Amino acid sequence: MNTLKVFNPATGALVAELPADDAASVARKAAAARAAQPAWAARPIAERLEIVRRFRAAVVAQLETLAATLTQDMGKPIAQARNELNGLLPRLDFFLEQAEGAVRDEHVFDGGGMHEQISHVPLGVVANISAWNYPWFVGCNVIVPALLTGNAVLYKPSEYAAQTGLHIARLLHEAGVPADVMVPLIGAGEVGGALLEQKIDGVFFTGSHATGVRIANAVAGKLVKLQLELGGKDPTYVRADADPKAAAESLADGAMYNTGQSCCSVERIYVHESLHDAFVEHFVKTVDSFKQGDPTDAGTYIGAITRAPQLAVLEAQVADALSKGATLLRGGKRLPGPGHWFQPTVFTNVNHQMELMREESFGPVIGIQKVKSDDEAVALMNDTRYGLTAGVYTKDEAAARALLSRVNAGSVYWNCCDRVSPRLPWSGHGDSGVGLTLSVEGIRTFTRPKAWHLRTP
Ligand code: NAD
Repeated sequence: MNTLKVFNPATGALVAELPADDAASVARKAAAARAAQPAWAARPIAERLEIVRRFRAAVVAQLETLAATLTQDMGKPIAQARNELNGLLPRLDFFLEQAEGAVRDEHVFDGGGMHEQISHVPLGVVANISAWNYPWFVGCNVIVPALLTGNAVLYKPSEYAAQTGLHIARLLHEAGVPADVMVPLIGAGEVGGALLEQKIDGVFFTGSHATGVRIANAVAGKLVKLQLELGGKDPTYVRADADPKAAAESLADGAMYNTGQSCCSVERIYVHESLHDAFVEHFVKTVDSFKQGDPTDAGTYIGAITRAPQLAVLEAQVADALSKGATLLRGGKRLPGPGHWFQPTVFTNVNHQMELMREESFGPVIGIQKVKSDDEAVALMNDTRYGLTAGVYTKDEAAARALLSRVNAGSVYWNCCDRVSPRLPWSGHGDSGVGLTLSVEGIRTFTRPKAWHLRTP
């Protein structure tokens, strides 16, 4: 039998060997899900809502264990693991409140003996291939609304968050979702590849741009719904009228939280020249206050780098920036093991010739660039192939709205950053992806509309 070895990224220790899937087991489970889905969809939505309520209660009851596993899986500081689980609850509440209305039949016309109606029917069997950085968020953004709207879910958690993936599946099963309706598949990319070869009705992926493109190519001929939530190079502009201390404290958190391993981490900062030096001083001071170390310690703010290969990516960005004249104010180096560690790293005097300002760092590394005007800031913010989030810090709401309307990004922030709301759609422009999760649209996305033309005899 295949196994997946799970290593703790903070210690390098082997912590679990999980039974893993192969092409044959994936095919078997996909066929079972296909057979089980109609009965699940036929159940009244009230029953599915009740099951998700029980799932929510189990997350609350087991929060400490689930947080500890998350920290062991991917090196997230325990306080932030607890935050992820607590942050899941309002998302579940949103789905619980909105799902029924989102898929209620719409009666759109009555006249001349004709009745027109729209119903929202489940896609069927959907694949969810998921990232490791916020496994509860990115997993449940798909799994929960997909199940509530009557789909079966074939869920391939990341191999770097597989124990957490199994917790999600276990709690849903214990809450009442049939085993063949919520199906975890354990393994790395090849298990995801085997999943894409099955008869499926939708593919919902969260991960890197490179894998997203591979997945889009793999399923192109299937003509099924495809959603890709990919990476970003998220910019923020600190305008001349901003409070440099407040902006610096907020943005240091936005850049370094989750050890910089968030799709919506602040990855580029542009600061008006009039407050650049004050901003940098406060920024560095804030970064210096972040405690890096043992992720199981409640006081730790910066944890381990989850995937060892990312260390080389971060080192290459640092070397490239230094060779092109950037000023290194903090960090810049990997730390000795065991485990995978990178110092919080702050650069100034950066420009768009540097990889650091062009490609996702996905680590505790940030470049701060001085700008002369709002127009220069907007041009630089838009000089990217990505478009996930972007923000501006200013006292002037009208100026913020005007600036943000010119920025090409799925989510825009005024005086905040690194924020996701269940009420708002989460989507990327450009190479940050296609499709969306969250909001009412992010519930409907697991259904297709069916048009009814009914003539009374
Ligand atoms: P990844 O692309 O390496 O892996 C994502 C998933 O795809 C994993 O489950 C992996 O096993 C699977 N996979 C890999 N190769 C595959 C293949 N050929 N066929 C099928 N499946 C395959 O990404 P990651 O390292 O897990 O996640 C980090 C990336 O995710 C970052 O770029 C980050 O910005 C992005 N992300 C985006 C969002 C968003 O909402 N936009 C959220 C979280 C993370």
